[in-house]
Amino acid sequence: MKACLLRSPAPIESNPLEFTDVATPKPAAGEVLVRVRACGVCRTDLHVIEGELPPRKSPVIPGHQVVGVIETLGEGAKRFAVGARVGIPWLHHTDGTCEYCRSGQENLCDHPTFTGYTVDGGYADYITAPEDFVYAIPEEFPDEQAAPLLCAGIIGFRCLRLSGIKPGGRLGFYGFGAAAHVAIQVARHWNVEVYASTRDPRHQKLALELGAQWVGGTFAEPPKKLDAAIVFAPAGEIVPAALKALRKGGVLVLGGIHMSPIPSFDYDLLYGERMIRSVANNTRQDGEGFLRLAAEIPIRTHIETFPMRDANRALNALKNDAISGAAVLAPEN
Ligand SMILES: [Zn+2]
Ligand SMILES: [Zn+2]
Repeated sequence: MKACLLRSPAPIESNPLEFTDVATPKPAAGEVLVRVRACGVCRTDLHVIEGELPPRKSPVIPGHQVVGVIETLGEGAKRFAVGARVGIPWLHHTDGTCEYCRSGQENLCDHPTFTGYTVDGGYADYITAPEDFVYAIPEEFPDEQAAPLLCAGIIGFRCLRLSGIKPGGRLGFYGFGAAAHVAIQVARHWNVEVYASTRDPRHQKLALELGAQWVGGTFAEPPKKLDAAIVFAPAGEIVPAALKALRKGGVLVLGGIHMSPIPSFDYDLLYGERMIRSVANNTRQDGEGFLRLAAEIPIRTHIETFPMRDANRALNALKNDAISGAAVLAPEN
C-alpha cells in the first residue's frame, strides 16, 4: 500500500514525509483493518513530525483523524460488519487496568498508545485499530467532512466541557484553526458568546462567519471580561494575555498537547480564583458524546483537501496559518 512515512523528525520545511510503498498491516485479534477514505491533518501531526513530541516509533506513519471502511476483521472482532464506515481517533488503546482507566479517566491512562505516534496512523491506504476504540460515523457527514471531527472536534469538545462555560456565558478562543472552528459551532449551539483572538486575518474572517461576537489580534484585549477561555495555539506567551481577559473565578483551558514555555507573570493575573488547566487526550465517552451532538447541530466543517501524496504541502500550509478550517488528506485508492 501507499503511505507517508516519517523516518526521523525534521522541520516540515524539509518535507520529511516520504510517500512510498509499505506492507499493508494485518489486523490482530480484536482489531479491524480499515481502508482509509480521508485523514484529517492535526497540529499534533506537526509536533510528531518536527520532534516536539519525543519519537516513540520509527519509522512511523502519522495521522489520527481517520475515516474509512472496514475491510477485514481480526480474530474475535465482531462489533462492526465488514463495509461499516468508522472513524479512528488519537486514543488508539488504553490498558483498562490502571487507576485512571478504572475511575473513568482513560484519557489519562498510564499505558496508552496513540494513533500516528506510538503506532502507525492514517496517512496511508490502510490502517488497523482495536475495534473497541473506533467510532461509528454518523451518516450525515461525508468522509472528508467527518475527518476533522475525530480530533479537532473531540478535543475541542472536551476543552469546552472543562471550561465549565454555561449558556449565555462569554468564552474566549486563542488561535482559530481546525479545533476552534468546530468548537465555536458547539458554543453557538449552547448560546455562548465567542470572542476570538487570532493573528491571521483569514482565521478572523472565518470566526466572524461562524458567529463570533468579536475578533481581534492574538494579544488584543476583548471588550468584556470572559467567563472562560481556551488557548488552541501552541504558544505559551498567550497564557498571561488570556488570563488578563478572564473575570474573577474564570477558567483558562490549554487545549494543546505541546506548548512553548509559558513566561512568568504577576500573581495578580491568577489571583481572584482564576484557574489554568490543560486538556489531555479524550475518553471514548467524549468521542461518542461529541459525534452525537455534531450530527444533531449539525456541525459543518470547513475543509481543504489535499492528495495523500501532498501531505508535506498540507502540513507546511498548516504551519503557516494558510488553512482556513481543517486540512484533510485523500488517498488515491
Ligand atoms: Zn489505563
Ligand atoms: Zn489531533
